[in-house]
Amino acid sequence: MTSETALWWARRDLRVTDNPALVDATATGRARAVFAWTPALHRWSGRRTAHLARVLWQLRDGLGGSLAVRKGDAADVVSQAAQEAGATVVFAAKEYSPAGVAEQEAVAAALRADGRELRFVGSPYAVAPGRVVKADGTEYKVFTPFRDAWRQHGWRAPAAAPNLDALEAWGPHADDIDLDQRAAHGDTNDPLVSTPEFREDRILAALDDFLDSDIATYGTDRDRPDLDRTSHLSVPLAYGQVHPRTVLARTARIDGDGARVFESELAWREFHADVLHHYPDARRASLRPVLAEGDWVTGREADEAFVAWRDGRTGFGLVDAGMRQLQHTGWMHNRVRMVVASFLVKDLLIPWQRGANHFRRTLMDYDHSQNQLNWQWVAGTGRDASPFFRIFNPSTQADKFDPQRRYIERWVPEIDTPEYPAPMVDHKEARAHTLELHQRAKDSGAR
Ligand SMILES: Cc1cc2nc3c(=O)[nH]c(=O)nc-3n(C[C@H](O)[C@H](O)[C@H](O)COP(=O)(O)OP(=O)(O)OC[C@H]3O[C@@H](n4cnc5c(N)ncnc54)[C@H](O)[C@@H]3O)c2cc1C
Repeated sequence: MTSETALWWARRDLRVTDNPALVDATATGRARAVFAWTPALHRWSGRRTAHLARVLWQLRDGLGGSLAVRKGDAADVVSQAAQEAGATVVFAAKEYSPAGVAEQEAVAAALRADGRELRFVGSPYAVAPGRVVKADGTEYKVFTPFRDAWRQHGWRAPAAAPNLDALEAWGPHADDIDLDQRAAHGDTNDPLVSTPEFREDRILAALDDFLDSDIATYGTDRDRPDLDRTSHLSVPLAYGQVHPRTVLARTARIDGDGARVFESELAWREFHADVLHHYPDARRASLRPVLAEGDWVTGREADEAFVAWRDGRTGFGLVDAGMRQLQHTGWMHNRVRMVVASFLVKDLLIPWQRGANHFRRTLMDYDHSQNQLNWQWVAGTGRDASPFFRIFNPSTQADKFDPQRRYIERWVPEIDTPEYPAPMVDHKEARAHTLELHQRAKDSGAR
């Protein structure tokens, strides 16, 4: 143990439990903690920044008040905080998304210039992206073998408790963010029907409830938006309030298919992060083009169709219910995300990037790699994507996964009244047209 102060740079790991970077920082006996409220957050919606403020507020509480939240570039905030604390080593979880990598490189350079070191401990994943590779050292391109190798690779046990007594308080600072004011702000400007849980202890308790009550039937019920029996862990995972390793340590103790299917869903999260790590361009560009450039709908026609989709007024009950659930809660059931995304890309012929941008602005669980790669999966442009010719039929999907129309009627109460719009396209015709364009692109070598 040294008498020197260490700094914990909190990033997408806003939790006390199972946090190796916090453990290592506090193990030195004297530590401080800082979070950078960066200009990139200006692009977030009010509801997301309000939620982040609540998450940070409760984290600060969990750390006994010792968390500075300061506005500015991460490189400035972290290097100044390190200077102020007299810390030569800064501990942080490593990021793998293009923006996270650029940020940590800038922080490392600023610290180096000042004779200090950025030390990475852990990541937001059970297995860090880039680690699961084939025997020849190259990355997996297909999910199932990736998942099997990922399981084989395994992960560490959850980290021990941090030494919270080591944390020292900061004095007031000119760049301090007023978390109370930020946390309240989102409610008044952008009301949500329900705000996601933001307290770490309640998130872990909800996880245990889910594992006790719903995991056994997860394999089948997870596809039913009317039953709403998924874990809702995506929001806390996006902010790092719970680590997948914590979750996997609990599911490992549960027998049965439900727990294995659930672990497999977490493996999708790791797979998408791995794909983006190997193909950073996938954040914007299709990994595999599916139509000729000129076949996508553009201009006013696309704008009008996009607005009808965005506002839940397409005339297809399941699509509209999903878009309204997103609008009102900032979350949408996975099955419905697939249906609305397929509808936008394959029925309306609007490029996936436009839908992904709307999700970025509205999802409370927005996660760059998960969002972009899931859109690419549905669009058929991704690494191990759903084939382009698989076009979801929104009506049969509704019959199958919302058989009593409970989900639809909850979000589209006027569905059976004259106010509800007629379907904006004939799905059968739209499907045939899209498949024809796809075939043409294939024959002409445009893809
Ligand atoms: C078009 C589209 C966009 C999406 N955008 C996001 C996003 O921005 N952020 C995000 O976290 N998820 C995204 N997803 C994946 C998925 O819809 C959500 O993770 C899931 O609905 C969250 O609910 P849950 O936590 O109750 O899931 P559960 O069914 O309880 O699953 C447990 C966890 O497994 C992971 N998981 C489940 N399904 C997927 C999947 N398809 N891909 C990757 N991980 C998965 C998530 O971390 C999830 O929290 C998107 C899916 C689609 C089709």
